[in-house]
Amino acid sequence: MIEAMIEAKGVKLSFGQTPALRGADLAVEQGEIVAVMGPSGSGKSTLLHCLAGILVPDEGEIHFGGQRIDTLGETERSALRRDRCGFVFQFGQLVPELTAEENVALPLLLAGVRRAKAVAATAPWFAKLGLDGLERRRSGELSGGQAQRVALARGLVAEPSVLFADEPTGALDSLTGEQVMDLLVASAREQGTTVVLVTHEARVAAYADRHVMVRDGKVASLAAAS
Ligand code: ADP
Ligand code: MG
Repeated sequence: MIEAMIEAKGVKLSFGQTPALRGADLAVEQGEIVAVMGPSGSGKSTLLHCLAGILVPDEGEIHFGGQRIDTLGETERSALRRDRCGFVFQFGQLVPELTAEENVALPLLLAGVRRAKAVAATAPWFAKLGLDGLERRRSGELSGGQAQRVALARGLVAEPSVLFADEPTGALDSLTGEQVMDLLVASAREQGTTVVLVTHEARVAAYADRHVMVRDGKVASLAAAS
């Protein structure tokens, strides 16, 4: 069997008395785009955070690129996130006071790339995502669709092994959401990026190679993408 790029095995996690994950299993192959679906509160975001090493499970294992990561300390897990993961969130979560260009450059700056070089590396992303001319705009002044494309550029600029996207089109109208998904999938395919995408929209999940359903803190069923 091919070793998974990223895998959760029997993952359990509670927030105080609230169980969020009750034994979740998921394996994602390298280069695969997987949509994680399921009702609100079922544990989708918590699963994503465990896979990314942001949260550590109470029980079970997380493997990333063949390495067990749930047993690592916070410093090592944050280094792994910095070096190998990209993130796109529902509302973009840009730093509003920074320009679009500075927001996109952030992952590179955090990885120790010099400022001029980091900013220069953002340029192709502005072209690729149809954001030309918006480089110096404060991100607080961008439209929702523009901000989400900037967030996508920021998620991809460091060419991560795995892109985690938690409801990346949740704040967008359906046309803009489709544009963002087209760009996300095209960029991921081009770079061979593995993508774990949380969504409750079937229209968004249709872009994935495979769907999984989270219910009551477990990965309940698998279905081939239509
Ligand atoms: P989903 O993303 O599918 O909507 P979540 O993973 O966010 O679900 O949440 C799963 C369960 O864990 C829910 O009952 C939610 O209320 C709870 N939960 C999530 N995050 C926290 C938190 N930081 N503190 C307390 N409870 C949380
Ligand atoms: Mg969520």
